Amino acid sequence: MPESYLFSEVGRRLNEYKRKNPGTEVIRMDIGDVSLPLPEVCLNAMREAVDEMGSSDKFHGYGPEQGYAFLRQAIARNDYLQRGIKTITEDDIFISDGAKSDLGNIGDLFSNDIKVAVCNPGYPVYVDANAIDGRAGIIADSRWRDINYLDCRPENSFEVTLPKNEVDVIYLCSPCNPTGEAMTRSNMKDIVDYALTHKSLIIFDSAYEAFISDPDIPRSIYEIDGAEKCAVEIRSFSKTAGFTGVRCGYTVVPGSLEYPDSDGKIISLRKFWLRRQTTKFNGVGYIVQRAAQSLFTENGQKAIKENIRYYMNNVNMLRDALLTKGYEVYGGVNSPYVWFRSRKYMDSWEMFDRFLEGPHLSSTPGIGFGSAGDGFLRLTGFNSVENTAEAAKRILAL
Ligand code: PLP
Repeated sequence: MPESYLFSEVGRRLNEYKRKNPGTEVIRMDIGDVSLPLPEVCLNAMREAVDEMGSSDKFHGYGPEQGYAFLRQAIARNDYLQRGIKTITEDDIFISDGAKSDLGNIGDLFSNDIKVAVCNPGYPVYVDANAIDGRAGIIADSRWRDINYLDCRPENSFEVTLPKNEVDVIYLCSPCNPTGEAMTRSNMKDIVDYALTHKSLIIFDSAYEAFISDPDIPRSIYEIDGAEKCAVEIRSFSKTAGFTGVRCGYTVVPGSLEYPDSDGKIISLRKFWLRRQTTKFNGVGYIVQRAAQSLFTENGQKAIKENIRYYMNNVNMLRDALLTKGYEVYGGVNSPYVWFRSRKYMDSWEMFDRFLEGPHLSSTPGIGFGSAGDGFLRLTGFNSVENTAEAAKRILAL
């Protein structure tokens, strides 16, 4: 397992640059963390929950491993039923301490000889968690031998290509970190049809679904017919509500997901996931789940909309500045990420250095998200509006 080279190399280049150029103010446009604090509605819910925890008759100890019914019901009602998805119920919802944990943990359900496909470029956890579990083989030239990479490039409008070989598990991300592009309904349908035909399982990471503004783009994989028979969906409150430090998300494992075990016996994935969770996980804190529940109130929904508006305004500023300067720009419309390259080909690290030395901006090199990301840089809308406006000004002055 190689070291996580990307962030240490970004840090090394930043430090080196600052050492050689003291007094230069570098703006961190690579940040994946949010800058807005927790909404007031969450703070109030947490304060109330803290008081309950201090009273002997309202104290909560170990909670249900799957999450409290009050939160699972709020999610099933607001995120699924009210959006026209009737196939998902509260029994299918498992509260987690964030999307990253479950993206890694879900591998506990799979044997080591299954074939895995990932969107390329993609959030590095999909590949790395499978490498740790021993399903990726060896690595050469940024590609693991036993992983099937589904390239998503501008040349094919970022459509996820169908696996060339038979695969058992497919990791998808929409809107995608890092490209910022969201999957179209027809692309999602193609992959769902593939999964139903080949009896594969889709792990659909929709951590950024709330940023989708285009009404034609599905926010959930379960908007596609048949997906409840072939897909797990993983979501997060991190970016919409400032929960990166609070830690809460959820995973949907529909009761209709059935797959053969190694003896060929058909088992319920939801039952198996519950068994896994009750064995290795003791649930998310009561205070945190009350804070998450508050997001489904009128004030909670208003706060989320405000946060999204703020980050999307930021990313728009970056997008406009890059387009004005003639870069080839993607994303930034239905997601808080902008993904771009120079029309004169440069590799990701050359681009990184150019943005550090020119506008003094730190970015994330696309190669860190997979081989199909080479040549690209990712900037995020998560910094403050002041820093982002300054970053856009510096890009325009390039
Ligand atoms: N999935 C994607 C695509 C992400 O970009 C991130 C965080 O950056 C996560 C999952 C992890 O989210 P969480 O904070 O809920 O663990």
